[in-house]
Amino acid sequence: MKDTLVMKFGGTSVGSLQAIRQVCGIAHDAKASWQNVAIVVSAMSGVTDKLLNGAKSAAAGDDSLAETIAGELREQHLSVLVELAPTASSGRETIERLLDEFSTLCHAVRVLGEASPRALDAIASLGERMSAPLVAAALNAAGVPAEAVDAREVVVTDEVYQFASPDMDATRQRAQQVIGPLFAAGLIPVITGFIGANREGTVTTLGRGGSDFSGAIFGVVFEAREVWIWTDVSGVMTTDPRIEPAARTLSEITYKEISELAFYGAKVLHPKTIRPALEHGITLWIKNTFAPNSASTRIIENGNGQKGDIRAVTAIRAQCMITVEGRGMLGVPGIAARLFTAVARSKTSIVMISQASSEQSICFVVPYGARQVVVSALEEEFRQEIARRDIDRINASQDCAIVTVVGAGMRSTPGIAGKVFSAVGDERVNVIAIAQGSSECGISLVVDAVEADRAVRAIHRLIVR
Ligand code: ADP
Ligand code: ASP
Ligand code: MG
Repeated sequence: MKDTLVMKFGGTSVGSLQAIRQVCGIAHDAKASWQNVAIVVSAMSGVTDKLLNGAKSAAAGDDSLAETIAGELREQHLSVLVELAPTASSGRETIERLLDEFSTLCHAVRVLGEASPRALDAIASLGERMSAPLVAAALNAAGVPAEAVDAREVVVTDEVYQFASPDMDATRQRAQQVIGPLFAAGLIPVITGFIGANREGTVTTLGRGGSDFSGAIFGVVFEAREVWIWTDVSGVMTTDPRIEPAARTLSEITYKEISELAFYGAKVLHPKTIRPALEHGITLWIKNTFAPNSASTRIIENGNGQKGDIRAVTAIRAQCMITVEGRGMLGVPGIAARLFTAVARSKTSIVMISQASSEQSICFVVPYGARQVVVSALEEEFRQEIARRDIDRINASQDCAIVTVVGAGMRSTPGIAGKVFSAVGDERVNVIAIAQGSSECGISLVVDAVEADRAVRAIHRLIVR
């Protein structure tokens, strides 16, 4: 029988003394019912941001911030370690050594005057490499035998620093060698999320928020029956409870719906987590570390036909809508192909293509930070058309947000779009562009950044009436 459970704990779930106590309780209970339990941990909350801020400041010529941060991180980790595992000297040594490594790396970054993606990964990886020994020590002290595992020894990735992808076959082999014996000895491996290493052994990361993805990767290689993502809210909710406190837990959500939500900004699950779980028949749950017995969400393959329901609404911020306009584009073949190729060349992913597009204008949304490179790439590509006035302008909008309404049954139900537009219209939110049906279960609206929360709350009232 496949009887392995992978549990991933996010930053807040390992972010304090109290949180790690909860983790110990949850692990203890899981061990009683499952043959093998593996734990994947994030860095303590806020740590990855701090590490990267230290690196950024060092690249700008000042490594004093990194020193301050190293002091804060020492306190943050060691104060918890002392309370939960006072005799764990190896955990303490590891944390001290990693903080020294942080100082050395930031010093090197200052001398070079730049932080390459490779250096940033080395620095960002330190958070998980500190939290895993800390959690393992706490588990051992609580009588739950555990051992910290550095995913650099297990997850083999490509060379794409900051967005690495795993080689699943190589990772499976390593997992058998490194983690197989731990399972056999009845230990819980406490594995660093977010990180891996390329074939040369150089550390890589899977992208921000990527520990969820690590959870799914380990689920696949251990042939786990279930992967439980433990976080700081009670599962996937009708919207982000930080925007709308009336949000409530969805007890089930389909893979399609959660994919759409995750892609369009619902941080509760990293979008890359979903496919491996779906393809390998692993049941995914999202649960609340701080209320383990409260409502939770199971991800399911097909909904039981809740036709017409808007199930959730989400927003992704810091976006920019680019509009390329010109009468001379009318009927000229190949403009769109050249446009999207130019954007791809600028290494930017398009988040949404709007139906406002016609042959005279094409609009699409990219992350706000990418607007300049995208506009330059387009100006370069269409230099001649601009000179001939076939293209009148390439416009980049102000900071905007994409608000996405999700529900698997929406597509086959007439009138949903109308309801959504009335809801935001009543709130006097100006809809800049829309896209519908690019996936089967979502409608996306582009709105001004400052109106995003108001739009989300207005649409949410259609769900929770
Ligand atoms: P972790 O550190 O556990 O990975 P994250 O901060 O990455 O946690 O994700 C959890 C957060 O996702 C919640 O605190 C919540 O604010 C946010 N969130 C956004 N949309 C939703 C949603 N639809 N349901 C639940 N949480 C959401
Ligand atoms: N610690 C990493 C981050 O903050 C990964 C994660 O938490 O999932 O992005
Ligand atoms: Mg997360």
